[in-house]
Formats: sequence, C-alpha cells, structure tokens
Amino acid sequence: MLESMFEWLFGSSWNLVVIQQEVIENLREFAKANHPREFSAFLGGEIQNKKLIVTRLLYQEFHSDQNSAIIKQNLPLLSGMIGTVHSHSSPNNSPSLTDLRGFSKHGQVHGILAYPYDEKSFALYDSRGKKVNFIVDSGKQ
Ligand SMILES: [Zn+2]
Repeated sequence: MLESMFEWLFGSSWNLVVIQQEVIENLREFAKANHPREFSAFLGGEIQNKKLIVTRLLYQEFHSDQNSAIIKQNLPLLSGMIGTVHSHSSPNNSPSLTDLRGFSKHGQVHGILAYPYDEKSFALYDSRGKKVNFIVDSGKQ
C-alpha cells in the first residue's frame, strides 16, 4: 500500500529489469581484478516504460577488504544512481546481513557477483533482499 503510493507519487515503478551486457562484462573484469578483495560500485540507469534499465557502473572511492566493501560517498549526489553492485570472493551470491542493511538505504536494485565471477554467479535483489529477475541486453536485435 505505502509502496504503491510511493510509486504513484514518484513514478518510479518498474516491472522488468534490463541489464546491458557491457555492465555485466565490466563488473566481471573488475571483480576478477580485485579478487580476493571485494569490488563494489553503484549501478547507473533509468526507468523507461516500466523497465528499469541498468546502463553503467558508477565508480566511487571505496575501501575494500576481504570481508567488506564500504563505500565512502554521499549517495544523493550521484545522478542516475539506481542501485549498488558488489562482488563476493566466495561462491555464495546471497546477501549478508550487512548487505541487506545497505540495500535498504541505497537504491532499488542490488547485484552480487560471486566467485568465479561468471554469468551464473550473478544475482540481483530488491531493496528488501528479495531476488529480482532480469534480462541481459546484448545490444543485438
Ligand atoms: Zn556482500
């Protein structure tokens, strides 16, 4: 109820998430390059015709170690920020409790790319930590 009112007020509703292939490719490269440290970034994109389209990674200064990736940034200053993404150095792509706390604060969708950083190890969640289906847009029709 509150949520639908929010959507009505802000026009931010979407029923499909589309991730551009390039975003996934970039994410995989960064995750591999940082292994075994975790890599994190923000997702940039927009809502068009009820589709949440993820078009790019937004990089910010971050502190990263094996257990946590803490982003140091004032989020509202980032335009087009629609969520977050980070890697896990283990094969588990479920959000940790710390991840869930972050999800609820920062944006609408949250990706986790787990080791070994391939397509199958990527999962997407909403701000409550519920799994979200998505399609990958390769740019080819
Ligand atoms: Zn995590």
